[in-house]
Amino acid sequence: MTRTDACLNCAGTERELVLDLGSTPLANAFVRPEHETWPEPTWPLELLVCRTCGLVQLSESVPPEILFADYVYMTGASATMVAHFDEHASTHVHDLRLGPTDLVMEIASNDGTLLSAFARRGVRTLGIEPATNLVVAAKERGVDSVARFFGAQCARELRDEYGPAALICGNNVLAHVPDLAGVLEGCRIAVEPVGVVSIEVPYLVHLLERLEYDTIYHEHLSYFSVRALADAFGRQGLAIFDVQEHPVHGGSLRLLARPGREHAACVAERIASERARGLEDLATYHAFAQAVARNRDELRALLEGLRAKGRRIAAYGAPAKGNTLLNYCGIGTDLVEYTVDRNSLKVGTLTPGMHLPVKDVRVLAEDVPDHALILPWNIAPEIMKQEEDYTRKGGRFLLPIPTPRILT
Ligand SMILES: [Zn+2]
Repeated sequence: MTRTDACLNCAGTERELVLDLGSTPLANAFVRPEHETWPEPTWPLELLVCRTCGLVQLSESVPPEILFADYVYMTGASATMVAHFDEHASTHVHDLRLGPTDLVMEIASNDGTLLSAFARRGVRTLGIEPATNLVVAAKERGVDSVARFFGAQCARELRDEYGPAALICGNNVLAHVPDLAGVLEGCRIAVEPVGVVSIEVPYLVHLLERLEYDTIYHEHLSYFSVRALADAFGRQGLAIFDVQEHPVHGGSLRLLARPGREHAACVAERIASERARGLEDLATYHAFAQAVARNRDELRALLEGLRAKGRRIAAYGAPAKGNTLLNYCGIGTDLVEYTVDRNSLKVGTLTPGMHLPVKDVRVLAEDVPDHALILPWNIAPEIMKQEEDYTRKGGRFLLPIPTPRILT
């Protein structure tokens, strides 16, 4: 891990520290039980705002080779994400009139969930994914994928081999990359002269307004506003022609761009609306930091109060963001006995830092702890539907943000 000394986008050095979440392990560094007593490396989790371009970013940069060589998040594990990607493919195929000769590429194509939705609609696809275990999973479902890190050089080579892409998608990947310029340049090269770049990122406005501070972890280097994205795209000769909002991952932005110079008028309107919401004022970020500290106090008070009444508490899910929440709030097995997850790669491990045992999802309805704290709050409705058995037996779910509460 290295401390960055300049903005990841504009290289400006005037960056303001606005939030300190303490020093934590990597959010996806789940611990094998036999390694429980081994020391865990931790790094500062600090949020900075660039005074020049407005990009919100971490102070530390994790080499992507460490983060993504063997990644445990599988898109196909969440029905909400599968449905979202199906809509995504359907919309693009319709709007861009994609046909059997067109090529759709995806950066960080994960287990091939999105591309298989394109393939079902008769479009050629190619995935680019650094995690070799995910490339294997994608190929098993028939999605052609290469195990590589994406950038300008990679884009040139793939273009030589496969031809230009009609569309290149990058969903929830831009926040992870230290080399923003290289990835956006690669996108432009892959689609030149007339293809479309579709980028989806969690939206900073929702992070701030819905207090989604647990989405801050080392794997997420950047937290995007339209203002910062417009700056980053413009630097690489990409002109944004549409900006949309989608409800996934707590509120995402989807930007569509083409090789070109001028952003469409909607971009300036979005930037003006962000300014009106205070995104360019440091006071907004300081107020956010105060609300985060208040959330920790309230969540601990809720859990401690329930424990004092003799209630048993578990958690639901072992998402990366859950580990920011658990570590920052200091929630260990004294408050929450264990968590459960559907991802078999995580079952049997301990959560990084707080060491909650991760059990099979079926344990919840069998054991029926009095309460279950939902860590992947972005898919809470899906979870509550799947776990009706648990609630029927008297279990009650808790939500941590924006205000900790018992769901009735
Ligand atoms: Zn900057």
